[in-house]
Amino acid sequence: MLNIILFGPPGAGKGTQSDRLIKKYNLVHFSTGDILRGEIKKQSKLGLEAKKNIDKGELVPDSVVISMISEKIDENKTAKGFIFDGFPRTTPQAEALDKLLAEKGTEINVMLALEVEKDELVKRLLNRGKDSGRTDDQDISIIENRIKVYLSETAPLTEYYARQGKFYGVEGIGTVDEIFEKLTFVTDKF
Ligand code: ADP
Repeated sequence: MLNIILFGPPGAGKGTQSDRLIKKYNLVHFSTGDILRGEIKKQSKLGLEAKKNIDKGELVPDSVVISMISEKIDENKTAKGFIFDGFPRTTPQAEALDKLLAEKGTEINVMLALEVEKDELVKRLLNRGKDSGRTDDQDISIIENRIKVYLSETAPLTEYYARQGKFYGVEGIGTVDEIFEKLTFVTDKF
């Protein structure tokens, strides 16, 4: 299996690059953000609870996203590999993911981290908010909080994967093609 974590701050371009990676390697894509937005649309109990966190730019509780991912992994027994987009976002999530994959006899091969500076992220998110209608992309204070939470809770995960020799940082500036080429330069080796 080829199991990739596509990592980076909000607005780094994870979704765009995931779409291309899943096509190239025939992987199953799990985006916790997309799954949560699906639950909000359905107005499920989980979705309505999660919306309260999302609309403040906070993280949804670990237990919620971990059980979502666990379920998805179970549903995809014959997958060639997974791409995790927006997950894990905290150390307990990373530990849970390692455990879930170990139970399946597999592991994360690589964390690809898209690196983009803050001013560019804010610009991209506000732009995306205009087209996507995502309310968490339309308010500067929500965006600022998401970036703050990213820096304090999520960015330390680069160390977690670096310790396992799995961290690769890639500059997330340039055309979509240029960035994709840099990512596949790494993933082609697996
Ligand atoms: P982005 O990376 O652009 O912020 P996402 O779609 O990945 O967008 O996430 C949107 C929101 O969903 C996050 O701000 C957070 O509230 C929630 N969320 C998504 N994934 C997770 C996760 N793994 N853990 C906790 N909360 C999450």
